[in-house]
Amino acid sequence: MSQVYSNAKIFHFHQKLSAMQAGRLTAPLHVRLKPTNRCNHRCNYCCYRSEALLLSELMRVQDEIPRDKMLEIAADLSGMGVRAVTFTGGGEPLVYPHIVEAIEQLTAGGVKVAMLTNGALLAGKAADLLARRAVWVRVSMDAADAGTYAASRGVGAGEFDRVCGNIADFCRIDGRTCTIGLNLIVTSENNRQVLDFLRMAKGLGVEHVKVSCAVISTQPHENAHYQEPFFESVKAQIALGQAELAGDGFEVIDKFHRPDSRQESFARSYTSCPFAQCLTVIAADLNLYTCQDKAYSAAGLLGSIRDQSFRQAWSSEGLRRKLAAINPSVHCRHHCVAEGKNLALLDYFGADPEHLDFV
Ligand code: SF4
Ligand code: SF4
Repeated sequence: MSQVYSNAKIFHFHQKLSAMQAGRLTAPLHVRLKPTNRCNHRCNYCCYRSEALLLSELMRVQDEIPRDKMLEIAADLSGMGVRAVTFTGGGEPLVYPHIVEAIEQLTAGGVKVAMLTNGALLAGKAADLLARRAVWVRVSMDAADAGTYAASRGVGAGEFDRVCGNIADFCRIDGRTCTIGLNLIVTSENNRQVLDFLRMAKGLGVEHVKVSCAVISTQPHENAHYQEPFFESVKAQIALGQAELAGDGFEVIDKFHRPDSRQESFARSYTSCPFAQCLTVIAADLNLYTCQDKAYSAAGLLGSIRDQSFRQAWSSEGLRRKLAAINPSVHCRHHCVAEGKNLALLDYFGADPEHLDFV
């Protein structure tokens, strides 16, 4: 199976790389779009509702992108040549009342679409549309039984079966071209269920499970302390799951790392964030943020699209200055999903032109 995740995807976009090297800000390749902050679940580990994490600072649950603004955003993104949009939270994207229209307009304009969802509303017209037009959908489930699921998500006892039913039905939609995977965020409550979860996922018919650890703090030692009691056991369950289940179109993607390993190190020596020119966040509060790790935080705020379009905001001098001012060694001493991508880009741009031929 070819890799769904890779830090090297950006190197397929030669015009973008050339523009970055020349100091020109062109459209981002990928936008994470948060249509609403409302959610139909109340997960006890939700990063947007935890005051211990940065992501709740500017979060207001009532924020939602108005329909007209969403249609303007969709027209801008396709007009500017943005390649892909991932619908995500803030809240639950399928709670957003104009989600079908937004997906239709983006895909008609040539933008590839994906979604992170809790799966509770993955049914009906939205599911049919995603199955045929989206590139991927990933459902966060985080439990292999109804009791653990209901307790960690603050939902009723029947929700687990409903979501499992939605996923199984989605897998069987006629003409489905969309990849569907599950997200398993390992917590102190569900860490003994990892192998059961992987077996359940394959039974439901999904193509992959991504396993990662809950981030409970901006401090690496607090995350390390949190996962230490179950780290070895989870790694062993992932290895068993890979050995037993991988193949026949099913894959276990292991993103479960120690927070002090290279992938998750919070200390950074580099002083710019080139990846912020490649991916940006449009949030339900009509603000633009540098990345998903700084969404809804004052430190990640790039500008507002309340009184201007996304196209105008992205080409403004103020936004350019903010992008140029990001200094990860000072401003980003917390979890950063783009760590590997930034390191690869900085290595690429830092290569001495006189020595390139000596490959
Ligand atoms: S489904 Fe997502 S957005 Fe909603 S409470 Fe859970 S983690 Fe938060
Ligand atoms: S370095 Fe990471 S956390 Fe900081 S702005 Fe860039 S992508 Fe976001």
